[in-house]
Amino acid sequence: MSYSVTKKAVIVTGATRGIGRGIATVFAQGGARVLLVGRDEAAGEATVAELNSAGGDTSFFAADVATRVGCYAFAEEAMRRLGAIDVLCANAGIFPEKRLSEMTDDDFDLVINTNLRSSFFSVQACTDALAVSGHGRVVLTSSITGPITGFPGWTHYAASKAGQLGFMRTAALELAKFSITVNAVLPGNVLTEGLVGMGEDYVSKMAMSIPLGRLGSVNDIGYAALFLASEEAGFITGQTITVDGGQTLPEALDALKG
Ligand code: NAP
Repeated sequence: MSYSVTKKAVIVTGATRGIGRGIATVFAQGGARVLLVGRDEAAGEATVAELNSAGGDTSFFAADVATRVGCYAFAEEAMRRLGAIDVLCANAGIFPEKRLSEMTDDDFDLVINTNLRSSFFSVQACTDALAVSGHGRVVLTSSITGPITGFPGWTHYAASKAGQLGFMRTAALELAKFSITVNAVLPGNVLTEGLVGMGEDYVSKMAMSIPLGRLGSVNDIGYAALFLASEEAGFITGQTITVDGGQTLPEALDALKG
């Protein structure tokens, strides 16, 4: 059995690279019509060209998800280009490292605005269209960091990612009357441009802490998002799927020896 998103009108934010690009790829391969959102026009157009040359039906729209105006703009554009919004994958996010002792108000606000306020803005902007769809789906990209684990240097990020889940649970209740489901994927460490930027040492140490022995791929996250967005997941709302290769399972280093 395969999960059906054929012809569905799908928005993926943060799709110019990384996990969002993986989510857009998996949906495009599944036959969905996908609007990719991000700020980097060149990267967005290049991704769209690659997906469409492989048979995809995708296009790119430049918007800043940290602003209300940006989120309403991509929602409007989706209606103009696709005539509907069936699925919103609110994925865009940043994870700059900063110790608490050095964190400024601006550092904190940038991460909260990009990762958490964007969930609020984008869901609000898409709600009417998702309700009309009759089977609207919201899939948030949260993280293991915050909801399950902690990591020095990421207090602002952890707060934003845990905040997304609080938002999700109540949004799921409010939007259930429109048959809209709201769920989240919690990636562990996934090999993306953003993560590679943190250095080889970080990446190889992370791989050693993952029972399945490797970092996640962007498609690993895409498949979980695809399931939550499918018709078949219509009775699941306010829930999370952790996609981390078992990274959050060991209760001590010894547990990793298997
Ligand atoms: P990435 O490679 O750095 O990509 C981030 C994406 O978000 C880019 O497409 C970027 O596009 C977009 N973006 C950032 N700020 C934006 C803004 N203000 N407006 C619009 N788009 C914006 O990061 P990633 O690793 O794929 O992360 C994607 C999501 O997964 C994030 O929410 C992150 O917290 C979450 N996550 C990642 C990991 C991991 O291991 N990689 C683990 C757990 C959770 P532009 O630059 O074009 O704007």
